[in-house]
Amino acid sequence: PGIPTAAVSRLVTYLRILEELERAEVPTTSSGALAERAQVSAFQVRKDLAYFGRFGTRGMGYTVSVLKRELTRVLGLNRSWSVVIVGMGRLGQAIAHYPGASEYQFGYVGLFDVKAELIGMPVDVPAQREGVSGSELAASAQPRQLNIQHIRDLAAFAQQQAAQGRAIDMGFLAVPPEHAQAAAQSMVEAGVKGILNFAPTLIQPAQDGAGHERGLQEISDEWRDVMVENVDFLVGMKRLAFYMLNPQLRDQDPE
Ligand code: NAD
Repeated sequence: PGIPTAAVSRLVTYLRILEELERAEVPTTSSGALAERAQVSAFQVRKDLAYFGRFGTRGMGYTVSVLKRELTRVLGLNRSWSVVIVGMGRLGQAIAHYPGASEYQFGYVGLFDVKAELIGMPVDVPAQREGVSGSELAASAQPRQLNIQHIRDLAAFAQQQAAQGRAIDMGFLAVPPEHAQAAAQSMVEAGVKGILNFAPTLIQPAQDGAGHERGLQEISDEWRDVMVENVDFLVGMKRLAFYMLNPQLRDQDPE
């Protein structure tokens, strides 16, 4: 049985709340207190946490630092993630500059595009931090500069990184929708196993060998364990419009 994506999103919210509590030096909390701040029910909080084990003591609530550490681990945020950005237009550049990703150990290692005037352009990216999260992260991390590379060099770059024990984990895809499939294919061929797709189109595992002199089997093997997550603020905008027109249909405790 899987875990609903909404539950994983809520875990991210609980973790943010725990970090706020820790900053405020609050030592313990409860499902009720977490629920109130996350705007869900206490039952929902207990149910979400129960997917991963038992964290609290009955009647005693949760130790903030312990639950924070456990959620950090469950979410995979206690390890480092090497990230490339593919598509360095308006959105790609905005993402690259945004310091939020370095709050955890997400580090940009490469930036890619196809446009001649962008290739070679230096871009400041936040430093990849080391440590667990928040206050425990090394404060010495300095911002770095990366030069935008051509997408055709992604595979070679990925190989080079892997040879140094720093395989690329994720790619953020920020190209126009009509180029998203081709760019995603380049990422997968380079061995990228996780794609955060910002383009408003669904990425499909390659169905045919168009443009490739390789068999179907080989293509689908490449895509076998590739994970794609779609992010689109336009979806949020349309959902907001829908719920504003139909407030009675809002489900406060989804899945
Ligand atoms: P943009 O035109 O400014 O930039 C796109 C860049 O992708 C260009 O520099 C282009 O040269 C590059 N590109 C094209 N094909 C490529 C390929 N095969 N490999 C590498 N790079 C390639 O566009 P933008 O405004 O930055 O938007 C980028 C994408 O993000 C669009 O699909 C847009 O719809 C989407 N978008 C999503 C959100 C969101 O919330 N998810 C928000 C804004 C934009």
